[in-house]
Amino acid sequence: MATELPKAYEPKAAQEKCLKFWEERGYFHSDPDPAREPYTIVIPPPNVTGALHMGHALNNTLQDVLTRWRRMQGYNALWLPGTDHAGIATQSVVERLIYQQEKKTRHDLGRDELVKRIWDWKDRYEARILGQLRQIGASCDWRRTRFTLDPVCARAVRETFFRMFRDGYIYRGKRLVNWDTQLQTSVADDETYTEETRGGFWTFRYPVEGLPDASIAFSTTRPETMLGDTAVCVHPGDDRYRHLVGRYVLQPHTGRKIPIIADGLLADPKLGTDCVKVTPAHDPNDYACWLRHPEIGIINILNPDGTINDNGGEYRGLDRYKAREAVTQRMVELGLYVGREDRLVPLRYSDRSKTPIEPYLSDQWFVQMADRDDGKPGLAQLTIDAVTDGRVKFFPDRYARSYLDWLAEKRDWCISRQLWWGHQIPVWYKSEVIPPEVFKTVAGPVPKALRPLLRERSNDIAIRWVNKPGRAGDDQDHTVDFQVCVRPGNEDIERLLEADGFTRDGDVLDTWFSSALWPLSTLGWPGPTLPEERTERLPPDWGKLRSYYPTSTLVTSRDIITLWVARMVLAGLYNVGDVPFRHVYITPKVLDGFGDTMSKSKGNGVDPLDIIDIYGTDALRYYVVSIAGETQDSRLPVANQCPHCGHLIPQKPEHLGLRTSKLTCPACKKPFRPGGPWPTDDPELPTAKQASDRFEQGRNFANKMWNATRFILMNLDGYTPAPVEVPALPTEDRWLLSRLAATARAVTTALEAYHFSEVARLIYDFVWSEFCDWYIEMAKGRLRDEAARPLAQRVLTGVLDGILRLVHPVMPFVAESLWQALNEAAAERGLPTPRRAEESVVIARWPTYPSEWIDPGVETRFLRMQELVRGVREIRNRYRVDPKTRLDVAVKCLEAVAADFNALAAFIGPLAGIGSLSAGPHTAKPRQPASLVRPEFTAYVSLAGLIDVAAEVARHEKETAEKLKALDAARAKLANDGFVKNAKPEVVQALRDSADELERQIAALRESLADLKTG
Ligand SMILES: [Zn+2]
Repeated sequence: MATELPKAYEPKAAQEKCLKFWEERGYFHSDPDPAREPYTIVIPPPNVTGALHMGHALNNTLQDVLTRWRRMQGYNALWLPGTDHAGIATQSVVERLIYQQEKKTRHDLGRDELVKRIWDWKDRYEARILGQLRQIGASCDWRRTRFTLDPVCARAVRETFFRMFRDGYIYRGKRLVNWDTQLQTSVADDETYTEETRGGFWTFRYPVEGLPDASIAFSTTRPETMLGDTAVCVHPGDDRYRHLVGRYVLQPHTGRKIPIIADGLLADPKLGTDCVKVTPAHDPNDYACWLRHPEIGIINILNPDGTINDNGGEYRGLDRYKAREAVTQRMVELGLYVGREDRLVPLRYSDRSKTPIEPYLSDQWFVQMADRDDGKPGLAQLTIDAVTDGRVKFFPDRYARSYLDWLAEKRDWCISRQLWWGHQIPVWYKSEVIPPEVFKTVAGPVPKALRPLLRERSNDIAIRWVNKPGRAGDDQDHTVDFQVCVRPGNEDIERLLEADGFTRDGDVLDTWFSSALWPLSTLGWPGPTLPEERTERLPPDWGKLRSYYPTSTLVTSRDIITLWVARMVLAGLYNVGDVPFRHVYITPKVLDGFGDTMSKSKGNGVDPLDIIDIYGTDALRYYVVSIAGETQDSRLPVANQCPHCGHLIPQKPEHLGLRTSKLTCPACKKPFRPGGPWPTDDPELPTAKQASDRFEQGRNFANKMWNATRFILMNLDGYTPAPVEVPALPTEDRWLLSRLAATARAVTTALEAYHFSEVARLIYDFVWSEFCDWYIEMAKGRLRDEAARPLAQRVLTGVLDGILRLVHPVMPFVAESLWQALNEAAAERGLPTPRRAEESVVIARWPTYPSEWIDPGVETRFLRMQELVRGVREIRNRYRVDPKTRLDVAVKCLEAVAADFNALAAFIGPLAGIGSLSAGPHTAKPRQPASLVRPEFTAYVSLAGLIDVAAEVARHEKETAEKLKALDAARAKLANDGFVKNAKPEVVQALRDSADELERQIAALRESLADLKTG
């Protein structure tokens, strides 16, 4: 019985139905299985408060393609999903929302209340972003979903911190950091950006002490930092100042005497810095100078909120910009002001709050990256080695460079953030007076509260004392500043410490510290299993899940190679001695039509959910796969979709950034507002959604497959499965199977090499052109023929089965919908031997075909036939012959080729609209022929009586004249010695080639003109 598919593919209905079916069947779930090799991907966890954007759509589609493909190949495929707490990004979003709604700051709420509020937000946002991932078809094992603040992740973070603290890789120190005065936290270099900002460049003088007429002039863009000056610096070779080195100047605002020092790195007349003030606590170069001259001292003048602190004397409490004015004014009054220039100053901003960064001296925690004092390789070197010796491979391999270059700097990693949302640092502080006898014990100074525990619990406690406690053996009491780190799971020790007056560090860890552990923590490292709060989720058990580690592939963006990829490798090697993944695939980026990155604030982006709404998920997925090649980023021109009629109006630069508030639709003439980051809706003017016609290709492809399948299903009356003997099949079947086998092999190779765009091209070409446009057309005759039909049905269902398997990783919804329909009509199918098909394409085997199927001889013969058919169609178009008119064609060729054409005549006739076809070595040229010259044959299409000969002769003559003119021009140029000598060789060669081509075309035109005239 024939199965009838609805006329058109309805993506929305298909998506809902498939998602439900797949999840009910639990296809995406993976459990450890010793019989099957695992294939594991851990998702780069999206920010929990984020929304799906094109970057996510691309990155996650590619992960899904890999997971679905490997699952079909029989691997035990696990794609582990989750979200990131994204410390500063999330806290700043929620703080801003609370302030908008309640006019309250985090300090009004207090730490516990703020963290509780963020958790409430988190649950809602997490559900939203996970739901969006489902929408794009992500075949994640949802029961293993993790969040970076889950207890199991928190334990991994604390365990790593504890080990690194114990082993001396983690230390606390005062360092100059990038300080965000609005969020009051340090931010990483990568979280800042530099912008040319209008500012001032002031010059002042400091009087030299003891030389009434002498002074030293210097310039600054931040006069308020004078309050923290601890020296003035000149170049050691500068004769003008040599006599002043060693003297002092007077800092007028504070009355401090500060030395004049010589330092060739900081002051360099060649760079225009004759004399410079030195403010070690508020400038990175001055800080470096202080490290070379620690005797000058270091003075911090800022409070965390950017106001002047007690060290600023009478300026205390002033905002730094108010202080700038006041300090300058004072210099004017003292006659020490020299002048001011307006300048564009490269100012650094915090990417989170968009406010200027202050270099700021503060207590921070660091991971030491450099090599160890004992000469052993440090963490940076271990991490470098994993890539240089090939344990981790980058695809494309050029990205290994970014990883290696950054690590080679071996800069310590600042891991503390002054936030409330995140993993709190597990270190407790207290100063304690230690009597001399304690120093004499082997263990050294130990806080009193811990002494009774130390024998039993020494593995759970790491103690450090910060100040020098004097020599063991002297007979004095010593005050010791203790830092105690407690291993996770020892809450009793934490309570004991706090009861004894220890306080816990209030900072949290950098988000990347917990992300670095993601491949470990999601699998339950270090174990044992922790109870799971949410019943729908499985508690990870490292003992069992260890087999998923190292994971197989990480798919991520080049922006976080250093921030994340390198640190995961570091953490994996440090914690378990093995890399976290074997392959890193770096995705290209989707840019807007002008080459800029897409962002919500620019209003130049495309919302993947809108695309899914308009074109369907398969179209979205096909697009992102098709642009993910080896090379570069891809531009996606964006259009505004008219909210009235759906017409697409291309986006122009002037539409961006809210510069255009109204457009008129050229199709329906109604007004609308272009898409953008509008703060509110406009009740008068509907806002356009952003879309792009680039997604039409994928939509059309899905429809093409739908229609082809629909046609096949309507022609399956009386279908009976039976084995097929491939070598005995008719030519067209052997050609199709050869192409299918070759395509399946090429798709597999492309996937193995992460050449995604190649995968899209291969399946598109095979399905659209070879299967639908050629083979199905050719099969139509056989389907009408009782005797030929059963075999044609078997080949059609068998090949369609293979196509759906090949297409499934890229376009799972249309593939599954058609698979289900095919299962109804032909549950048992396949070549050469039919089998009962799997109930879902998700769990179907990845197709591999016998290599004997690939038959270059048959493919060549077919290519020849396609050339003939295409050529005849071309001639029909060129001479504007009515499509219904049958053409008579004579082909001059070798006997063997002729035999082949004759064998295929049954197809060539209908495909090319041919009335009579004759072929052979002695075939006569018909009257008024149009000829078609190909390497292995020349075909003549008789046009006698079909065309207006006079008009065609005139057209041929005109075209010949034009080409002759072009040829003369080219020849004249080539005859010019000056040109040939001076032009680039490739330019000369191109001109020669084009002259040759023109000659060839002219000869062909003349010949066909002669043919026309023979009539
Ligand atoms: Zn319209």
